Amino acid sequence: MSDLTAFIAGLPKAELHVHHVGSASPRIVAELAARHPDSQVPRDPAALREFFTFTDFAHFIEVYLSVVDLLRDAEDVRLLTYEVARDLARQQVRYAELTVTPFSSTSRGIPAAAFLEAIEDARHAAERELGVVLRWIFDIPGEAGLPAAEETTRIATGTPPDGLIAFGLGGPEIGVPRPQFKPYFDRAIASGLHSVPHAGETTGPETVWDALGSLRAERIGHGTSAVQDPQLLHHLAEHQIPLEVCPTSNVATRAVDDLEAHPLREMVEAGVLVTVNSDDPPMFSTDLNTEYAIAARLLSLDAAGIAALARNAVRASFMDKPGKAELEDEIDAYLTSWQRQA
Ligand SMILES: [Zn+2]
Repeated sequence: MSDLTAFIAGLPKAELHVHHVGSASPRIVAELAARHPDSQVPRDPAALREFFTFTDFAHFIEVYLSVVDLLRDAEDVRLLTYEVARDLARQQVRYAELTVTPFSSTSRGIPAAAFLEAIEDARHAAERELGVVLRWIFDIPGEAGLPAAEETTRIATGTPPDGLIAFGLGGPEIGVPRPQFKPYFDRAIASGLHSVPHAGETTGPETVWDALGSLRAERIGHGTSAVQDPQLLHHLAEHQIPLEVCPTSNVATRAVDDLEAHPLREMVEAGVLVTVNSDDPPMFSTDLNTEYAIAARLLSLDAAGIAALARNAVRASFMDKPGKAELEDEIDAYLTSWQRQA
């Protein structure tokens, strides 16, 4: 293990852009598949690892949907959520805003109340037993259109769970204009939720402007194409609207050609508050620590620079002030002790 890899592995972190179902690792899928022997998912560990090896975007969707198919009752949801927290805790993630898509489960027959109870139960257990604090972002699956938006808004504003802090919009961007979701974001924001839509991943900077204007985005999921518009970069920097950057995911979805072509450095040099995240880590054969290592390489960072990146995520999070101060102090103390040993 190189020095910086070891530094990253032990660094206390916050994760702001990671999907609930998209975090199901082969280990977790094997546990779920064992509960449902009739499923088509391979159960032999080697076959399962191969199934998970990213080939192209269509294969990613296939893997994703096969996990969705394994979530058949509230206990499956609870198991997935708790085990995702375990994988986060192993990477020294102390706090995560997990993007959850309730519509995927409620549209398959799990009652909303049972779904919410399952994730909340897992959240409490994860905090108590694993030391990782989870908060929810409920997102509209854009490809499912306005009925999904209505259902997601109803669940998020009806009897929202205590862990819910924000409202999102995921799925494809092409053919799914952001402004049509304005009424739903208006309702979510009025009920006290933060606005964190995906935008500018597979479409141009105009989608980011739409997310800022119509959806009142406080943070942008990806925002990769923002670098094509200097005025937009300036706006993001001036208003300190953070970008949730997920380098490996951006390559997998062909938002960028390869890691070397990733515009991370341009974002940072423009003064944008950049955070590093993992999106759907096992499905893109990555994890948060790997994404930090990639960012460190692209930005030529040393340990202090990597710690600053971790602090960015804390600043960009929706944690309360004491929570932020505590995690920033933990990051600083870790850096100091690392530097003393070096
Ligand atoms: Zn995402």
